Amino acid sequence: MIIDGREIAKKIKSDVKQRIEGCESKPKVTAILLGDNPSSESYLKMLEKTCESVGFGCEICRLPNTTSEMQLLSLIDEKNKDEKTNGILVQMPLPAHISEEQVIMQIDPIKDIDGFHPMNAGRLFKGEKAMRPCTPLAVITILDALDMELTGKNIVVIGRSNIVGKPLAIMLMQKNATVTVCHSRTKNLAKHTKSADIVILAVGKPGFLKQEMVTEETVVIDVGTNEVDGKLVGDADFESLKDYVKMITPVPGGVGPVTNAVLLLNVLEHFKF
Ligand code: NAP
Repeated sequence: MIIDGREIAKKIKSDVKQRIEGCESKPKVTAILLGDNPSSESYLKMLEKTCESVGFGCEICRLPNTTSEMQLLSLIDEKNKDEKTNGILVQMPLPAHISEEQVIMQIDPIKDIDGFHPMNAGRLFKGEKAMRPCTPLAVITILDALDMELTGKNIVVIGRSNIVGKPLAIMLMQKNATVTVCHSRTKNLAKHTKSADIVILAVGKPGFLKQEMVTEETVVIDVGTNEVDGKLVGDADFESLKDYVKMITPVPGGVGPVTNAVLLLNVLEHFKF
């Protein structure tokens, strides 16, 4: 079975739209972009479209690449204080003269809809209520949408980045799964993946997970996004896996659309209805 991420995203968006129906003020996202990075530009176009489709406001602040760190920090501060802004996104990467860490620290944790602020990361780690990063949250949302009981399941997460692998492992543990996190130094990776009920890929290498590394009972969630010959592909060898494994998310059309949709849920976390 191929898991339809677009359908799951559609349902989330329609729920969000319903939740804010009749609200006097509408939730608003403020995104900040320095320079003209084409992938950031296309992300922001998509963000505007997503916000518009559910009735959210979306403000995009475009600043030149030469903007100083101080100027950026004071713009963030202004948006922190702006009651109409419910979520702040700063597009990465930033120019080399600006510290990404400082910028993330400057965002008010309750408006940190990316969930990258150390306060949110710490709360997540401790099992407290936190703004959760969108990509791991999308994976959990997909598994929930499939009504998959995670208690006692063996789940292998390949990748240990701060934005995907690590927070995802914590979220899965909170759902009582038995989690194994693999990375570039893991020995005999196939031994781990073959004995897993669910394999989650966050590697950034096209065709990384091959048929011989899984079984017919494996569920594969592919977070990877790679460009090959101008086409977007995941980390799974999708063609050989799609008719073999129990379930798999495609790329595009799997985790990506759900990631965009769950961002809207983060905007609503602290919205006063
Ligand atoms: P990252 O920071 O580059 O991390 C990649 C991880 O893969 C690292 O932990 C690395 O191990 C591990 N790895 C690399 N080669 C490996 C190998 N041969 N065997 C096992 N593990 C290996 O990447 P990321 O930011 O987490 O992103 C991962 C992928 O997800 C990328 O394709 C990215 O574009 C995509 N992504 C998608 C979304 C979405 O919404 N769909 C969002 C974010 C990211 P080490 O730690 O040992 O180096």
